[in-house]
Amino acid sequence: MAKQQDTKKLFENLSGAGKSIGVLTSGGDAQGMNAAVRAVVRMGIYVGAKVYFIHEGYQGMVDGGDNIEEASWESVSSMLQVGGTVIGSARCKEFRSHEGRLKAAHQLILRGITNLCVIGGDGSLTGANLFREEWSGLLEELVQQGLIDEEAAQNNSELHIVGMVGSIDNDFCGTDMTIGTDSMPPEDGWEEHMCQKLSENRADKKRLNIIIVAEGAIDCHNKPITTNHIKELVVSCLGFDTRVTILGHVQRGGTPSAFDRILASRMGVEAVLALLEASDSTPACVVSLCGNQAVRLPLMECVQMVSAYVSLIFCRSFENNLNTYKLLSYHKADSELPNVMAVLNVGAPAAGMNAAVRSAVRVGIKEGHKMFAVNDGIEGFYKGQIKEIKWGDVAGWTGQGGSILGTKRTLPAKHLDKIAEQIRIHNINALLVIGGFEAFECLLQLYEARTSHEDFCIPMCVLPATISNNVPGTDLSIGADTSLNAIVETCDRIKQSASGTKRRVFIIETMGGYCGYLASVGGLAAGADTVYIYEEPFGIRDLQSNVEHLTEKMKTGIQRGLVLRNENSNENFTTDFIYQLYSEEGKGVFDCRKNVLGHMQQGGAPSPFDRNFGTKIAAKAIQWISRKLKESYKDGKVFANTEDTACLLGMRRRTMAFQPVVQLKDETDFAHRIPKEQWWLKLHPLMKILAKYKTSYDVSDSGQLEPVTRVRPKKAD
Ligand code: ADP
Repeated sequence: MAKQQDTKKLFENLSGAGKSIGVLTSGGDAQGMNAAVRAVVRMGIYVGAKVYFIHEGYQGMVDGGDNIEEASWESVSSMLQVGGTVIGSARCKEFRSHEGRLKAAHQLILRGITNLCVIGGDGSLTGANLFREEWSGLLEELVQQGLIDEEAAQNNSELHIVGMVGSIDNDFCGTDMTIGTDSMPPEDGWEEHMCQKLSENRADKKRLNIIIVAEGAIDCHNKPITTNHIKELVVSCLGFDTRVTILGHVQRGGTPSAFDRILASRMGVEAVLALLEASDSTPACVVSLCGNQAVRLPLMECVQMVSAYVSLIFCRSFENNLNTYKLLSYHKADSELPNVMAVLNVGAPAAGMNAAVRSAVRVGIKEGHKMFAVNDGIEGFYKGQIKEIKWGDVAGWTGQGGSILGTKRTLPAKHLDKIAEQIRIHNINALLVIGGFEAFECLLQLYEARTSHEDFCIPMCVLPATISNNVPGTDLSIGADTSLNAIVETCDRIKQSASGTKRRVFIIETMGGYCGYLASVGGLAAGADTVYIYEEPFGIRDLQSNVEHLTEKMKTGIQRGLVLRNENSNENFTTDFIYQLYSEEGKGVFDCRKNVLGHMQQGGAPSPFDRNFGTKIAAKAIQWISRKLKESYKDGKVFANTEDTACLLGMRRRTMAFQPVVQLKDETDFAHRIPKEQWWLKLHPLMKILAKYKTSYDVSDSGQLEPVTRVRPKKAD
């Protein structure tokens, strides 16, 4: 408790008064750069610092003048949804020279800017690092040349730098092969190998093959492997119709995803915190996320260790992805006597469920199991809607929304005998349940029924998949990202619908049951002014001050207001009530519109994140089940009755962990169907800070500086 108070105090004491922060985007542009700039500006102003845009990257820093411009709270309004970078990013030859950096230092000193937030790639960070190393020398030179005086040199003697990740999503799904990323270079004979795999796939009636060639791929004789070379190969050897698509900047363009915006907002706030805490003795750092955990890494090590920092931050997860996709692409029939594993969806549909089923089925087959699919959840289970599912049956499932298997909310408690009977009939000796809160409850009931039904003494695993993100034991569920994107896209569109008209406030109701995740995190990504959630009780005084806050905002020239309300946030302060209250109180200043989002929040096709997450987590679950099967094989049959054979696989901070469902009971608020502790509540104040509310932000969890080697998430189990 005392510690918590200390850290809270620490945040309130963190003052940026008297400090000036320069923010620039440099090198190639990336998704989320604007969200990061917005967060740096607002957090900087929030803590009392002055923040300056440095337009056009290092070029603007060298040239000075209008390129370095003080930012205001309002100047970053409506910036979240814009792709690319609003403040411009240029490549700058001059900054590579000592002379250029001397000019840049002069421009910064003129404005008293000694804190820099650099959003860019490894080149930009290398430059930043060099700049910091030279700083005191540059100041001496400027004094010698009479461009600044001794006092200015002393007042600006320390330059603090923090780098940020501008992320490009490098997760490709449904990939058959990847060339040029891991095994570079590939061994001789890779061409035949590739063609053979492709024809095997085709023999399997698989008609669509995707081959990804990395820019810069080479063979072991240093000869470039180009997309055209591959195309010619495939056409000449196999006669397949082949198309080449160069992704190039397609990868970067467009509106940033909810994930990018949240990541960038978190990073922006982290960057300002890191700058405030920096001293001459702390090294320049890069802020990033590892799993779901904010981390700070020494900038110099990052730059030294790899040639591309994007690959540094993502290489571990990318490597893992690659291994998963390899697992899914090389189909080899196994002949051993297989275990029978059943897969089912339980609860409401969520995007990415099908990707998880596909991955489970294929990894299961590869591991030598016989895979059975259950239709319509537990209802289908006890009615015997169970049949074998083959490799080819799940082709193309990755990109499809909803649940192809069919899913229902029915729980097993009332149907235990019939379910046990089906398990016997089909010789099922392992179970994978993919779904939301009900899926967790389902596994819990089956686990607890082990004492009365020995048939349930088999390895069982649940994968969290629900848009509400309310499953205990995991920070994130499959489907939540797609849903956030749907919400955020709709908010963008709703906001746009009113552009040019008069001042307007939108009241938007989101789903989630009692879980405020979608409202709160969606609000952060969409730039909401206020979010009402069950987890943070509110009363009439709060409502009043929220309306007043909006009225004040409208005076600044910003014309849009966005209010999100979780469907169960308060029994009496309904969406209609809030709409009417705002309408009445806002009379003459703004008018209101209300929107209940409903089932569109389930999203259509799963987002890249959910496809990838579903694919990876299911592969991990099957490998775990295989291990548990081996361990529990006794006297010619499977017998698993320990707690650790009925687990939920979840992402917790930086690890993926298998947790016995029975142990998660204590962490669960069953009445409201939410975990007792929800990590994202820590992000809730961020949304408020970025909407100009004074609030308290718990910094105890903010990233600590750590060596680059510790980036790799610790493997749980
Ligand atoms: P990215 O940051 O995306 O890797 P670049 O490599 O083009 O992009 O770098 C962006 C800018 O960073 C360059 O135009 C240059 O101004 C600066 N920069 C890159 N490398 C260095 C370096 N070694 N020394 C000084 N400045 C550098």
